[in-house]
Amino acid sequence: MIRVDAEKCSGCRECEKNCPLGAVRVVGKKAVAGAGCSACQACLKVCRTGALTLGEPVPGSVTCTFCGVRCEIPPGLTGACKRFTNTGGDLVRNRPLQIPEPLPPDMERAVLSRPLITAVGAGASYPDCHPAPYIVQDRVGDFDVVTVVTEAPISYSSMIVKIDTNLHIGDEGSLVKRDGKAVGMVTAEQYGSHVLLLGGVNRVKGPHGLTVVRTMVELGNREPVRLKIDGGSVLDLQVGRPPVVNGSLDEKMRVGCGGACCGLFAGLLAGVVDEAIILDHHITGLLTRHPAGAELLPYSGVEPVGRPATPGRYFFDHGSGWGGTNIEDPRQAIKSVDMNYARPGMKILVAETTWRNVALFVVNADGEPVRAPLPEEVEELRRMLASNCEEARVSAVYYAGVGGSARAGVTVNPIELTRAVHRGDAVLSIAGAPAYVMPGGGITFLADVEQMVEKPFTYTTSPAVVAPVEYTILRHKYAGIGGHISSIRPLSEVIREGRFQWYPRR
Ligand code: SF4
Ligand code: SF4
Repeated sequence: MIRVDAEKCSGCRECEKNCPLGAVRVVGKKAVAGAGCSACQACLKVCRTGALTLGEPVPGSVTCTFCGVRCEIPPGLTGACKRFTNTGGDLVRNRPLQIPEPLPPDMERAVLSRPLITAVGAGASYPDCHPAPYIVQDRVGDFDVVTVVTEAPISYSSMIVKIDTNLHIGDEGSLVKRDGKAVGMVTAEQYGSHVLLLGGVNRVKGPHGLTVVRTMVELGNREPVRLKIDGGSVLDLQVGRPPVVNGSLDEKMRVGCGGACCGLFAGLLAGVVDEAIILDHHITGLLTRHPAGAELLPYSGVEPVGRPATPGRYFFDHGSGWGGTNIEDPRQAIKSVDMNYARPGMKILVAETTWRNVALFVVNADGEPVRAPLPEEVEELRRMLASNCEEARVSAVYYAGVGGSARAGVTVNPIELTRAVHRGDAVLSIAGAPAYVMPGGGITFLADVEQMVEKPFTYTTSPAVVAPVEYTILRHKYAGIGGHISSIRPLSEVIREGRFQWYPRR
């Protein structure tokens, strides 16, 4: 449990606010360690005065090895994540498994999962007080199914663009520009990927709205687009293709972060080297300190640069160097070698998480790591690990809302359509692609552009993205929400008119 040096404590309460177990309190402007501390070190990370240190665990504590934090869980209590309880010296998961109740297959859901027609090529009803241009019905299995379609100009349009790359493209929150005009922003980085959020109604209606909608339409239609991140990279993006970052084609994703590479490949690495630093801008791994490597090899005495996170994991800074870090020369990754643990001749591998670049160092008698040629066994392992990297690609999800007047083409009672969509009675699709409808009010959805009919989007100069929207529902339920029943036509009649194309099923 923690110890408090009252002299150093400023009474700021950061420890109290951040302790997940309520095991430290500030009393009379001084922190006081209480019962229940699991030595998770959250308070040590936020204390700016150095008032806290870790003492011995209370007798009977068990070291939790279910994550890298390694809580010391006192008897009868839980660790910081509150998942495991020390029950008589055993760590027991304190919540039962959750298993869905068995149900018969939902045939209605199955028949509604594909629209009878897509809205691509349908046109629109305007002003929004008329029935949609195509409201068609067909018999599917035992059900009378209706699909209502319109190509609706949607100003509440945005696009999430995922770029698989380990290269740093720019900081989260930075503006994304096209021809110098802001069209979006960089948002949360994801696993091996960077994510842009383009558009949004305020950008669409702003001074550069036409550039904003044109960018979303071109990306959604899988055409090439060049973007520039403020303070970051120039990106040449095309959905379904690898990204080009600052003129370099980036064809492979990383296998995982440096910690994940240690976990995945500890056995293979331990067979050819004594230590490995696997460089990654998120988490860099140190093999012999990582729990997976520590089971196989003794600690090497190597300390990487970077900020320790949990055992064997380090935070490195972003940059244009190895693994998206600021390490340009692999030797820079090794901060020190402690010869109390290390020995001359010891082999240290420094690698990227894409396994494109690796370097081998051999420790000399002075404890200096000296670069050495790669033996064939290490090169063979590099090739094998590189082959585990997935193809990098750009993908995009159209993210928009049709809670407004576009509902008039479907029903005279718009709130009933919104409710039917949220109940699952009316299934939304966009150019044939399944849509995920966000919880809460309105009809705000996400749909993968690569599952849509080819070239589904266009735009109006209002400006707005024209998006093909389909609602598929059973006929009697369509009648129940105030649907335009008198405008229904059989699908066979629409096909007889001949103004259609079959499109390939995905
Ligand atoms: S080490 Fe963790 S559990 Fe213990 S007092 Fe600090 S934050 Fe709370
Ligand atoms: S965070 Fe540190 S300085 Fe602040 S109250 Fe806790 S022990 Fe004291």
